This record gives sequence, structure tokens and C-alpha cells, in this order.
Amino acid sequence: MMKSDKKTKIVATIGPVTSSKAMLKKIIEAGVNVCRINFSHGSHEDHLKVIRRVAEINKENGYHTAILADLQGPKIRIGEIEGGAVNITKGERITFSTKKIIGNATKVYINYDQFPKDVTEGERILIDDGKLALKIISTNQKDEAVAEVLNSGVLSSKKGVNLPNTKVSLPSLTEKDRIDLEFAIEHNVEWIGLSFVRSARDIIELKHIIKSKGKTSRVIAKIEKPEAVADIDDIIAKTDAIMVARGDLGVEIPMEEVPLVQKEIVKKCLVEAKPVIIATQMMESMITNISPTRAEVNDVANAVLDGADAVMLSGETSVGAYPLQVIESMVKIIEQMETSESIYHQETVPTSPDDERFISDSICFNAGRLAARVNAKAIVTMTHSGYTAIKISSFRPKAGTYAFTGNHALLNTLSLVWGVRGFYYDKFVSTDHTIADIKFILKKNGYVKEKDLIINLASMPISDKGQSNMLKLSFVD
Ligand code: PGA
Ligand code: MN
Repeated sequence: MMKSDKKTKIVATIGPVTSSKAMLKKIIEAGVNVCRINFSHGSHEDHLKVIRRVAEINKENGYHTAILADLQGPKIRIGEIEGGAVNITKGERITFSTKKIIGNATKVYINYDQFPKDVTEGERILIDDGKLALKIISTNQKDEAVAEVLNSGVLSSKKGVNLPNTKVSLPSLTEKDRIDLEFAIEHNVEWIGLSFVRSARDIIELKHIIKSKGKTSRVIAKIEKPEAVADIDDIIAKTDAIMVARGDLGVEIPMEEVPLVQKEIVKKCLVEAKPVIIATQMMESMITNISPTRAEVNDVANAVLDGADAVMLSGETSVGAYPLQVIESMVKIIEQMETSESIYHQETVPTSPDDERFISDSICFNAGRLAARVNAKAIVTMTHSGYTAIKISSFRPKAGTYAFTGNHALLNTLSLVWGVRGFYYDKFVSTDHTIADIKFILKKNGYVKEKDLIINLASMPISDKGQSNMLKLSFVD
């Protein structure tokens, strides 16, 4: 049994501590809506087990948990270091080589062939989440570049490299990403995340590949590069959803800028009705501790107040010591924040009559308003693409948003979206009959009771499956 009725969704990264079927079931029932498989770690065999187990759990229990397959993207790393790690000292020089060598304190491999051509003197190199900073001194424009160490520290094998000032020429989808993508869409995952997105073009390309294979997986643009922040309006327009990937973002831009960037992105996503996930270090200390820090509690709470669709856990649920407790703590914070009136009824600007979706957008907008005015308990939409459900959600109604659809894949997809609950339904006889039937289903499942007000959106005539153009307010009887 699902324990929570919260509206803000939880994305949990699955790893060794959560990948058993029993544990997956536990965390889903505790409040996880989306299971994230991270292609930066683990094998396809591991990921496939998770995909299959989640599908089984969904089927056996009538749940709609989604899978998010997170592609590594053009992530840059250094190679192996002799003995695993070495101390480096401020003022020393290190050569970055594109030849596969075992590294030491003076020379190290970097997995980026064009590195010596792409960097210029003075640009910064950040290693291991910014723990080490270096500055380019010179490059031979071919296979080596020399950098000066700006702070002392430990250089260890395979650590990630961020180049915030460099125009990185790596493709947005690497060879590895293409193979991982193939695997993900073959198994019909609902969401595909792309790391280190730089422009809307990266999203267009990814969506093109998915479509050309006849698949319906939707795309999440991970915002973790300054270029993506600069191109955010276009990216939001082209993508299906956004992730504020604060781990890398806080290395690529000054970390003190991240909170405002987070708030701005969430605001824009609400206006454009694109789901937005806040990710990384939300409950970091619970990787080793049984309870979160007060600062972490505030961070999750503020993400909910900002209006995020979902909050994400990474190491906390993939390798942490308390994967179930972290979900339980997060659910408690979310439920508490959702008692605040301030998160509901976002009055974003309605669409203009020139807009293609003007009719259905206006219906959704007014469903949100009406629900607030009359304190309706439910807004129900019949949808094939999920468009109206996502649109209604963007107005953050306090009423439950219920999406009735004959599109099986969509039910899981919608699990990422704030406040939306999906139901399978394929008997589209007449509008009156369908509305009566839906009320019956919601009542039977305990979501509404006699005398509750319910708003139904429909498209008339129903057989056309066109834009929602009708709104009905009625009591449950
Ligand atoms: P990652 O993305 O965990 O794949 O690095 C999230 C982030 O950078 O915050
Ligand atoms: Mn990242």
C-alpha cells in the first residue's frame, strides 16, 4: 500500500542498496515515484534487472512508477593515477595528456582528445567537484596542455573534470551515450535524462533519435553548464522536463549563484508547464547518518515551496546506509510543506488566442481557478498525450489532478508530474457516461466522497479526441 498522498514527487537513484525487488517495493510504497538508473555507474545487466523489477512491482500492485534513464553525456575524466592517488601542491605544474598513460603528480591522462586544442591560456580546470583548481599555462595544440595547480590537495584516479570557461567541442551524445540510449529506449523507459546539455539543439537531436526509433520516451534536460543557464528559455521550450543538477552546476558556475538560478528555473518551468526536478545533495548527510541536517530539511522544504515537481536523491538511495529512512524523512518534509497554502494556485499568464493550444490552455487555467474558488476536490482530465494533465498541474491546484487515459505508457510518465495521479481508462462512449463512470471510480478508490465538488474537462465531441474544450462542475453523488 502506498503510504503518502503527497503532491511533490520523489526521484530516487537506484544502486546496490536499493536494487533488490523487496527494497524497490519498500521505497516505492514509502513515496518514490520515479526510479533513476544512472548510466555513469553500473552495467546494462544491473539496469535491466531494475527496469524489470519495477515493471513487476507496478503490475503486481497497480502502481505507475516511472523509470528515468540518466545518460552520462560529455563528462570529462582524468585517467588512473599510480597507487590510486597522489598529493599535489599549489604552484606545481601538471601536464594533461590525451595519451592513455598511468598518471602521477606531473602528468595525467584526460579522456578528451580535443582538450589541447579547445583550451586556452588562463582557463580554469576543476577536478573532483571543484576540490582541486588548476589554470592552463600552455598547450601544444596537439596532445598535451600544461596547467598550474592553484590549491594543494589530492589527485585521485578517474575523477571528474569541469571546464567552466572552455568551449568544449565534445558531442552532446558520446559513443557511450548512444549505446546507453539504444538500451534505454529498447526497454521503453519513460524518461531519458541528458547530462551537460549546452543548448536546445542537444535536446532536439536527442528527441529526433528517440522519435526515429518509433519510441515515446520523454527527455529531461539536466542544467549543469553555464551555457545551458544562458540558453534556458530555448531549452525549456524544446525539452519535456528539466533537472536542476546542482552537483555539477555548482562547480561550473559559482556555487553561491545556484540558489537563485534554481528559483528562476523553477519559475520559468511553471509558466511553461514543464516538470522540474531539484537534484543533488538534498539529504547528503543521510548517506551515513540516520537523520538529516537542519540545513538539508530546509533545502528540501524550500524546493517544495519554490514549486518543484520533484526532489531527487542520488547517493542517499544508491549507496547510502539509510535508503528507506531518507525517503521517509523526505516524505515528512514534503507533507508538512504541502500544508502551506502558499504553494497552491499559481496564477501564471494565460496563453494568447494566437497560440495553437489556446482553447485547452484556457480551459485548464480556468479549471485551476474554479477549483480554488469552489474548493473542488478533484480536477479530472481525459488525455492521450498527457498535455492537459501537465498543464493543469502547472497551476498547482489544491484539488487532486486525475488523468484518465487509454495510453498505458503515459500512466508511468505522469508519475514525475506534481500532483498528478493516472488511471487507465479506455471506454470513451459518451461524455456524460464517461464523467459518471469516472466519478464512480474516484469515489470507489476513496479520492472523493459524496457532496464533493469535481471538475471534469473533456473534448466534445468525445470521439474526436481533440483539444479539451469543455469544463463541467458537479457534485459527487
Ligand atoms: P549527476 O547529475 O549525478 O549525473 O552528476 C546531477 C548533478 O550534477 O547534480
Ligand atoms: Mn552532473
